[in-house]
Amino acid sequence: MDFNLSAETRAWRDELRAFLAAEIPAGFAGSDDFFDREDQVPFARELYRKLGARRWLTPAWAEQYGGMGKTAIEQMVLNEELAWYRAPAGGRLFTIGITGPAMLVHASAEQNARYLPRMASGEDWYCQGFSEPESGSDLASMQTTATRDGDEYVIRGQKIWTSNGHVADKMLLLARTDQAAAKHRGISAFIVDMAAPGISVQPILNIAGRRDFNQTFFDDVRVPAKDLVGGENNGWYVAATTLDFERSNIAAISGARRTVADLVAWAKERHAGRRPWDDANVRAHLAELHVEAEVGRLIAYRTAWLQAAGKVPNYEASIGKVWMAMLGIKVANYGVNLLGLYGQLTRGAEHAPIDGRVLESYLLAASGPVAGGTGEVQRNIIAQRGLGLPRG
Ligand SMILES: Cc1cc2nc3c(=O)[nH]c(=O)nc-3n(C[C@H](O)[C@H](O)[C@H](O)COP(=O)(O)OP(=O)(O)OC[C@H]3O[C@@H](n4cnc5c(N)ncnc54)[C@H](O)[C@@H]3O)c2cc1C
Repeated sequence: MDFNLSAETRAWRDELRAFLAAEIPAGFAGSDDFFDREDQVPFARELYRKLGARRWLTPAWAEQYGGMGKTAIEQMVLNEELAWYRAPAGGRLFTIGITGPAMLVHASAEQNARYLPRMASGEDWYCQGFSEPESGSDLASMQTTATRDGDEYVIRGQKIWTSNGHVADKMLLLARTDQAAAKHRGISAFIVDMAAPGISVQPILNIAGRRDFNQTFFDDVRVPAKDLVGGENNGWYVAATTLDFERSNIAAISGARRTVADLVAWAKERHAGRRPWDDANVRAHLAELHVEAEVGRLIAYRTAWLQAAGKVPNYEASIGKVWMAMLGIKVANYGVNLLGLYGQLTRGAEHAPIDGRVLESYLLAASGPVAGGTGEVQRNIIAQRGLGLPRG
């Protein structure tokens, strides 16, 4: 593959950079991750509508769906730049990163015409209703049911860890439609309106005190049958596609690269009479993290290149997921050590270095290997599908 971007893509990237530099206020403490801080949602909505109006949110999508008719490479460039400029998450991972691409593979033309333009314009934000209290890695054991009743399905059950559930307009939901079938075969995927009667979303606060995810309860929620995606009992395949797209995301790598750059800038300043950069150990550590971030970037570029070639990345995306989660932990661990006692100050504290962002990353990085499928599960995928090793 060719790692160089075409002249046309570089020109568009320059335009995008100028737009983001102008739109995102200096010092804006945007997200380092995939979640929307509640106080940033109004700004995020506005920013994403502006990007959508330019068709820049979904460059890889066909023009009829609000895209630019480009490739996954441009989509990756967009994610990389948004994360570098620390734009608010804007629901983009779950909307244009996961649900949209999976719909392009599995949904009907009528469904895509109805749903994709509202994703592309930044109007609708999605969340993902997969995990349940007793079903995470073993997702196929889920218990939430969808029972057909005339032109509707009636949803009953509970989801958990619903990131962005409290700010999303719609959910891509998995529910059991056939109790008798083998567990992978009796699941269906639906688009659900989060305002539908019977849905309640309750907060779960994470270790950083943020409400990034939720529990979502479904009490006889009625979903029109036309919102079943990919056909009845085919939900497992829809889910598998979404997860492959989720794991190939470059934004986390770009966020880590930016944090390394921020740490380098901080180390070059004078603190308590000394310049950390003058210490060869500090320089060596930061150089190593920079190199690892560049490796992660190339892994992500390769995944995007596979997508641009019309393939759905699988074990390749799992490699990226493992690398990005480990890198997030390494950067945050080294960052809090480098910043010393001040590094323990939280966002908003007067003397918090780098906006207190490194501490927040330190607290949240531990969940990186769990979100989107655990590190062990990714390693199983790499071993079996990548290396051809037998199942353990
Ligand atoms: C920050 C964050 C955001 C999330 N957002 C969402 C979301 O928006 N929507 C959603 O549906 N879910 C979401 N999740 C849930 C996530 O998908 C699950 O946490 C994940 O799939 C693991 O499931 P579990 O937590 O039930 O752990 P378990 O599956 O119970 O795993 C427990 C341990 O057992 C290990 N294990 C399990 N099976 C195997 C195996 N076959 N081989 C080896 N080891 C194994 C795991 O690696 C892990 O260490 C989120 C999670 C996090 C942390």
